[in-house]
Amino acid sequence: MQPKQNITHLPVYQPGKPVDDVKRELGLTEVIKLASNENPYGCSEKVKAAIMEELTNISIYPDGASVALTKDIAAKFGVDANQIIFGAGSDEIILMIARAFLVPGDETIMADETFPQYKHNAEIENAVVIEVPLKDGKHDLPAMLARVTDKTKVVWICNPNNPTGTIVTQDELNAFMQQISDQVLVVLDEAYCEYIDGASYPDGLSMLKQHKNIVLLRTFSKIYGLASLRIGYGIGHPEIIRYINQVREPFNTTRFAQAAAKAALADEEFIVFCREQNTIGLEYLTLHFKRLGLSFFPAYGNFVMVDVKHPSGEVFDALLRKGIISRARWTYYPTYIRITVGSKEQNEKFINALEQVLQELAVRT
Ligand SMILES: *Cc1c(COP(=O)(O)O)cnc(C)c1O
Repeated sequence: MQPKQNITHLPVYQPGKPVDDVKRELGLTEVIKLASNENPYGCSEKVKAAIMEELTNISIYPDGASVALTKDIAAKFGVDANQIIFGAGSDEIILMIARAFLVPGDETIMADETFPQYKHNAEIENAVVIEVPLKDGKHDLPAMLARVTDKTKVVWICNPNNPTGTIVTQDELNAFMQQISDQVLVVLDEAYCEYIDGASYPDGLSMLKQHKNIVLLRTFSKIYGLASLRIGYGIGHPEIIRYINQVREPFNTTRFAQAAAKAALADEEFIVFCREQNTIGLEYLTLHFKRLGLSFFPAYGNFVMVDVKHPSGEVFDALLRKGIISRARWTYYPTYIRITVGSKEQNEKFINALEQVLQELAVRT
């Protein structure tokens, strides 16, 4: 049997290590996972009630068009229903964009390094992937613009960038959008936007009004705490959304995900709480990184990329033995780990463990 040649080299996705595996392998009773930017506070209680209510409909196909949820999102963000599309996580919207827009030989531009799914899906379509190095951990928009040709179909901007946590500002994005051809689709991945209230963060929604070629990606996996349910959404010009809809599987989001997302959207109090706690947690972590003499990238989401000044794999392993799961082994940042902001107690345990690990490694070298 012969698969598509362009997929044979692709890696199988390696998720953050599950807590139960680590407990079993290392004989630990308590393990804290700060590897996948999950919400340490779980999700709204209203979400759980909505899912319970939906259980009676388990045998019935979901509403493929997510009409009720679309209505709520449209009202919340002041857009029309035909500007919204749902996916099994925003991961699936990335897949659908690649499927709808990229044919073999098309060029697509992204940062290096950034969220891996842009490249992964572009490679499946046999598109030419153009990776532009980050500058000080930030998207280098002028350098990305300079790589645009008449073959460029899609540019991906991850804001804040995963894994570095940095943002492109409104001014930087405005300058970029003024110069790029309106024939190029610009994907703004805003998976962490609900955590940010800073003035320099771009207002993607209002930019949609001036630029038909922008599509925003949002998710219920991060601040809303619904990662296991797999639901995210895209917002863009009706024409773009229609193209994405044309390649969408008929029932790509479940009843439970739709009901949960609807309830999550309505519980603003929970979101405010999570955003406030995250800000406090970010301050705590960065304060202690400074105390320990560690540099880090300015963090805007619910995670921080910190330079631990030792090979990150060694620090990852040592932290794991103390029951902390982090994320390490980045291509361009060999001495950095990425850590999710946890609860107050988790953050304290992480800083204590990190301090011990760094002392142990300093004695050895
Ligand atoms: C987590 C994340 C996503 C999507 O997650 P889903 O669970 O598929 O919605 C998308 N982009 C970035 C940058 C992320 O960090």
